[in-house]
Amino acid sequence: MRATLDHVGIAVKDLAAALAFYRDALGLEIEPPEEVAAQRVRAHFVPVGESKLELLEATAPDSPIAKYVDKRGPGLHHITLRVDDIAAAVAQVVSRGARMIDHSPRAGAEGALVAFIHPSSAHGVLVELKQPPARDRGSEPGGARGRQSAVQRFPLGDLELISLCDGFFALDGGALFGTVPKPAWERHAPADDRNRVTLSLRPLVVRGARTMLIDAGLGDKGDEQFRERFAVDRRRNLDHTLAEAGLSPDDIDIVLATHLHFDHAGGFTVRDSSGRLRPKFPRAQYVVRRGEWEDASRRNERMTWAYVADDFAPLAEAGVLQLVDDDGTIMPGVKVRRTGGHTTHHQMIAIESGGKSAAYVADLIPTAAHAPDAWIPALDSYPLDSLAARKRFAAEAVEKGTLVIFEHDPAIAAGYFHDDNGTRRVAPAHGTNL
Ligand SMILES: [Zn+2]
Ligand SMILES: [Zn+2]
Repeated sequence: MRATLDHVGIAVKDLAAALAFYRDALGLEIEPPEEVAAQRVRAHFVPVGESKLELLEATAPDSPIAKYVDKRGPGLHHITLRVDDIAAAVAQVVSRGARMIDHSPRAGAEGALVAFIHPSSAHGVLVELKQPPARDRGSEPGGARGRQSAVQRFPLGDLELISLCDGFFALDGGALFGTVPKPAWERHAPADDRNRVTLSLRPLVVRGARTMLIDAGLGDKGDEQFRERFAVDRRRNLDHTLAEAGLSPDDIDIVLATHLHFDHAGGFTVRDSSGRLRPKFPRAQYVVRRGEWEDASRRNERMTWAYVADDFAPLAEAGVLQLVDDDGTIMPGVKVRRTGGHTTHHQMIAIESGGKSAAYVADLIPTAAHAPDAWIPALDSYPLDSLAARKRFAAEAVEKGTLVIFEHDPAIAAGYFHDDNGTRRVAPAHGTNL
């Protein structure tokens, strides 16, 4: 077996104090954190030459890292050896009598496969074997249309729009396409063996007078059951793509919500090591439409499963919530406009600068496949309101040449509407890839 030292894991009790040493005193660079939800741990990688250090922070009191720190205090936790073929490596060490903690490889951080060897077989050291994933360059195979998670920049007058990605999830195809028969939608959106269709999560940054983030994806609070149900794939997530855009959570001044469903507001909050929920963007004001806030808080709608109080209730407690009553300007060039339909107070974001227009349409038109007016998700609470709002919007978008930004299309971040003999089509727009 050829093995390379991949990283050294260090259990951390107080992340801020650890950063003060590794980042500030040693002057090392810290990569954006990665959540390994199954282990209830957040990993901060610190590149050091060919290898890395991995600072491990517990995200819940029952995390293995929290237990380790309670028992032995913070410090060296494990070493990780990188191998080409982890199944062969596990078979080899088992054949020599070593005791495994994981008898078969499982998912670890950064999309790798991992398996731990018991310290009793490794002379008191916890040894992790790791097979890294095939390199993700922002595009990966995933059905007929592929998946795109690349960060894309679209200049718009004095503003800059940056489409980010918080990964992918999947919803039932019937729920997504309503009264459209499956043979018609399946050509645009292939379903998996459970009839689920892959959707992306694409929050949008608007840089102008201030730095705004519109929606924030799923976030990392979902448990194993949730991730399984919705086929969640966040190996590349908002932390990675924000960093690629040259931003950190501290840079966001305003977080604007289209509505409060979990796939839009999940990333608004994070759980810290004591298990407490806090706003993810520490300096931001969170702007939410009052009617949506009230409906989400009451959860008296048909889609109660789509509202998760942990995503938004902590914002009010932290005093960072700003409720708006009506359509209007949130920052120069950025207006909210109620569409209704999907939820009573669902809003789209209309962006204008230098005579050009763009629109972040959220669940009014979740993917490019939903461009025809009548392709309305069964998930919408008031489909006829959706229809009216879509007609109004599409007519305007064709006339003005509006850049339509999709939040859930797995492959197309944005495009332009045009009518082709009465059929609405989308010409994909190509931003500058980072
Ligand atoms: Zn929604
Ligand atoms: Zn959605």
